[in-house]
Amino acid sequence: MTLCFRVGNVDKKRFFEAKPLWKGELYDKWKAAGKTSNPRENVLVFDYPAEGVLHFNTTRVVKLDPTDPFDLTRAEMEARKQAAELMSFFRECEIPGTEKAELLYTAPSIGVRESRMLDGEYTLTGKDLRACTRFDDAVAAGNYDIDIHNPEGSGTSHYYFPNGTWYTVPYRALIPKISDCRNLIVAGRCISVDHEAQASIRIMPICTTLGEAAGVAASVSLDENVPVQRASVGRIRKILAESGAFTGI
Ligand SMILES: Cc1cc2nc3c(=O)[nH]c(=O)nc-3n(C[C@H](O)[C@H](O)[C@H](O)COP(=O)(O)OP(=O)(O)OC[C@H]3O[C@@H](n4cnc5c(N)ncnc54)[C@H](O)[C@@H]3O)c2cc1C
Repeated sequence: MTLCFRVGNVDKKRFFEAKPLWKGELYDKWKAAGKTSNPRENVLVFDYPAEGVLHFNTTRVVKLDPTDPFDLTRAEMEARKQAAELMSFFRECEIPGTEKAELLYTAPSIGVRESRMLDGEYTLTGKDLRACTRFDDAVAAGNYDIDIHNPEGSGTSHYYFPNGTWYTVPYRALIPKISDCRNLIVAGRCISVDHEAQASIRIMPICTTLGEAAGVAASVSLDENVPVQRASVGRIRKILAESGAFTGI
C-alpha cells in the first residue's frame, strides 16, 4: 500500500539536479541510521504540473491487511509518518531546492495495489503474460511491465515486455465459475489473476479496457437472456472492435 503526497515550494530545477543525493548514498545512509520506517529502497517522485509542486509515490506499508478496517487505519497512520520523515530528510540533509518546501497534503486515503480477487472461470498468470498468450476469448490487451512492489519490504522488481509485444486478457478471467454466480462480471484490478499477472493488469489503462469489456458483455448477456458465462464472446469481441477497442488478436 502507498499513500501519495504532494510537496510545495520546491525549486524543482535544483531538486532534480540533486537527484544523485536523494536517490543515492545520502538517502541510503539516512535510512540506514533508522530515521524512517519506510521499507522502500529509494525515493519515488514525479514532477507535477503546478509551479513548485512535486508528487511523491514513495511511502510503502507492508504486512497489513487492506480488507481489515483497523489495519487500513494503521496503514494510513504509518504512511503519514513516513511522509513527515521524508520532509525531515530534506531538512536534515539540506537537499537543494527543498529549503522552503512544505508538505501540502497527503491523499485522502491510502492506495491499495492488490487485495481481494475473483476466483474466476480462468485465472490469468504471470506465465501467460510473459508468453504473450493470445486467448481466443480475448477482450483486452496490455504490455505494461510486471511491476512488483515487494510485499515483504524493500525492493521493486520489473519484467519489461519486448517492444511491440503484448498479452491478452480472456473474458473468462472476468467472470465467476457458473457454479458460484451467474450474473456477475468483474472489471478492474480484482479480476481473476495471480499475484504476478495482477502486477501488470492493475494499471489504469488496462482497468479501463476491462471496464469497457465488462459493460459490453453485460449488455450481450442481457440481450441473449443467458448467464454471463454463456454470453457470445464472438459478439462481445465484435462490438468492442466496432467501437475501436484493441483486444490483441
Ligand atoms: C499508490 C498507487 C500508485 C499507482 N500508480 C499508478 C500509475 O502511475 N499508473 C497507473 O496506470 N496505475 C497506477 N496504480 C494502479 C491503479 O491506480 C489501480 O490499480 C486502478 O485504478 C484500479 O482500478 P479499478 O477500477 O480496479 O479500481 P478503482 O479505481 O479503485 O475503482 C473502484 C471504485 O469503486 C468505488 N467503490 C468501492 N466500493 C464501492 C461500493 N460499495 N459502492 C460503490 N462504489 C464503490 C471506489 O470508490 C472506486 O471509485 C497505482 C495504484 C496505487 C495504489
